[in-house]
Amino acid sequence: MHEYSLATNLIEILREEKKKRNIKKILKVELEFGKLASAEPLIFKEIFDIIKKDTEFEETELIIDLIEPEVKCLNCEKDFKADTFPFLCPYCENMGGELLRGDKITMKSLEIIKD
Ligand SMILES: [Zn+2]
Repeated sequence: MHEYSLATNLIEILREEKKKRNIKKILKVELEFGKLASAEPLIFKEIFDIIKKDTEFEETELIIDLIEPEVKCLNCEKDFKADTFPFLCPYCENMGGELLRGDKITMKSLEIIKD
């Protein structure tokens, strides 16, 4: 399952951050989760909350901010929001466009206790 490997991945990233920055405890991790990312945010959170129990991040709270995808029309060059394929420009009705944001999962912030 894709969400499972992403959640395992997040644990690894937290572990590296912890080591690198001398963090005693990570209280909260906030992710920006694009609506077009190839994973289901609720399932991802569920899995993270299960697998964290076997790690030092048992008490780490996961916050997910859903990001509305933004597309740039290649015809009229206006930006618009779209969360389904194919993208249809509301201004000139051109089909397609360049995705500017909303297909990635990125770490936004960490709330920590320093060592
Ligand atoms: Zn357009």
